[in-house]
Amino acid sequence: MRKKIVAGNWKMNLTLEEGLSLSKAIAEFAKTNPLDKLNGSPKVIMFTPFIHLVSVTESTKGINQLETGAQNCYIEEKGAFTGEISAKMIQSAGVKNVLVGHSERRAYFGETNEVLAKKVEIALANNINPMYCCGEVLDERNAGNHFNVVKEQLEKGLFWLSEEEFAKVVIAYEPVWAIGTGVTASPEQAQEMHAYIRSLVKDKYNENIAENTTILYGGSCNAKNASELFANPDVDGGLIGGASLKAEDFGAIIQAY
Ligand code: PEP
Repeated sequence: MRKKIVAGNWKMNLTLEEGLSLSKAIAEFAKTNPLDKLNGSPKVIMFTPFIHLVSVTESTKGINQLETGAQNCYIEEKGAFTGEISAKMIQSAGVKNVLVGHSERRAYFGETNEVLAKKVEIALANNINPMYCCGEVLDERNAGNHFNVVKEQLEKGLFWLSEEEFAKVVIAYEPVWAIGTGVTASPEQAQEMHAYIRSLVKDKYNENIAENTTILYGGSCNAKNASELFANPDVDGGLIGGASLKAEDFGAIIQAY
């Protein structure tokens, strides 16, 4: 059975104090609404800025199914790479997940599928689960090229992994035109792409692996539209940006199954 996940991507928002206040509110939510007892039994991950990670991870200790994640990691194990953070450092802070290939990293920091493949590799080598983001920009969708774009992102970034390695990866489909725009993919558009992604996983690996792969939707998902998105058979939860910054909204999304 594939795991349902609701993940919050805080991006470069919130001071340490604000972040801790949010994580404590989410931890409180998870204590009063045990995640494994909720519909869908979702795992919840908070992808915080690096500087918040140690304290936020501490605030999740002992709470079932509540985890943290880094928003990025570097491609090398260690060394003279001023300003970078390694997967090993992330792992040593008790953090279990890392985002790889968010569209903002691809667009603003020039991260290619080839670089992202290295990030996936080093994350797995350090026992961190990569959440690999893929998705087309508006022009690509309008040109009817969205399936090809996503296929290439998956083939180059992930499909060289062994079956055992691939089983540790979560895929987040995030149409770039929906991220932070208030324009959400329709449930039909989301389901269509998620089913396509699952079919690619089946073709590359096998049916069992495809059925067990968690595929999240991201892009202006909020407390109002989460239920209809999550109701789709191939949508296993969401990667949430803006709406993950308020405990009340994020809590409502976690309860949306
Ligand atoms: C994101 O950045 O991953 C995201 C989905 O953002 P938003 O929910 O704000 O569109």
